[in-house]
Amino acid sequence: MILVLKKGVKENQIGEVLEIIKKLNLSGHVSRGEECIVIGIVGANIPAELQGRFEGLPFVENVVRISKPYKLASREFKGTDTKIDLKDLSIGGKELTVMAGPCSVEDEKQLYETAVGVKKAGAQVLRGGAFKPRTSPYSFRGLGKEGLELLKDIGQKTGLKVITEVMSLDAVELVYRYADIIQIGARNMQNYPLLEEIGRFDKPCLLKRGLAATVEEWLLSAEYIMGKGNHQVILCERGIRTFETSTRNTLDLSAVPMVKRLSHLPVVCDPSHATGKWYLVAPMAMASVAAGADGLLIEVHPDPDHAMSDGPQSLTLENFSMLMKQLVPLAGLLGRQIKGGQ
Ligand code: PEP
Ligand code: MN
Repeated sequence: MILVLKKGVKENQIGEVLEIIKKLNLSGHVSRGEECIVIGIVGANIPAELQGRFEGLPFVENVVRISKPYKLASREFKGTDTKIDLKDLSIGGKELTVMAGPCSVEDEKQLYETAVGVKKAGAQVLRGGAFKPRTSPYSFRGLGKEGLELLKDIGQKTGLKVITEVMSLDAVELVYRYADIIQIGARNMQNYPLLEEIGRFDKPCLLKRGLAATVEEWLLSAEYIMGKGNHQVILCERGIRTFETSTRNTLDLSAVPMVKRLSHLPVVCDPSHATGKWYLVAPMAMASVAAGADGLLIEVHPDPDHAMSDGPQSLTLENFSMLMKQLVPLAGLLGRQIKGGQ
């Protein structure tokens, strides 16, 4: 349920509504837009008579019931696009955000070389896994804390923000200390206790779509995070499992405009995990931008043939730089821009 408040509503009146909501064991989320202030009420059982009670308050303009199963993530809750501000970086606005780097952090030399290269080509965020979800337990599973330290250090040295994945509840606090954006991987999209824990932190979170998740399930996962108070969620389409085997996954491009219609949250695409093949990354990156994605997450490695994970889908620094040169005019054509892009 959403309460649209009248213009000029006082802070103590907002507090009054939040108090009523709290007493009913429901949670209230205030969204302050340019046009008006709305309060979203979410919870398991919202009594029907509540609508009339709120409609009777003099400073409430309108009470709307949200028809979708996800509430805070829905366009009904917030009509304007969410923009996530990370000081000198804004995700979800006019600027496209390019996050690039290796699948796994391997060592200082590899990460530094990649960071310098992607920064020069125009990326704003350095990606790199320190805790890796691997299909086989015998594969390289990341450097852990050492990887986080390298990311933070090299991110600072090169002026790039850092995104990295957290896989387990007990590592959230640790990852939070090192990352600017916390990534929830596809395999954890339905790890609800982990989502709720991230929801208690105040850093942006990139939520990947699950391997076989519908758009609705994906948005409901975002709702788990938002329901705990963290509304800084970025959705990431990374391909879904289909019958097709020529690509690693199938990039569901139509999910981008679909989600943007259903939700106010920013959406980015990961053409690397979606295709599994480096030579498909550039065309799919451009198609993602054309479809309205707010950014890209791309795997780049200085020597893909010797990468410890996901080499076949990693771009060389040269190929990444070529892609960025193509993306800049494309972004311009679509009324967007890439800060740092040449
Ligand atoms: C990754 O980004 O490194 C990753 C493991 O991706 P996904 O969760 O999409 O498989
Ligand atoms: Mn990877």
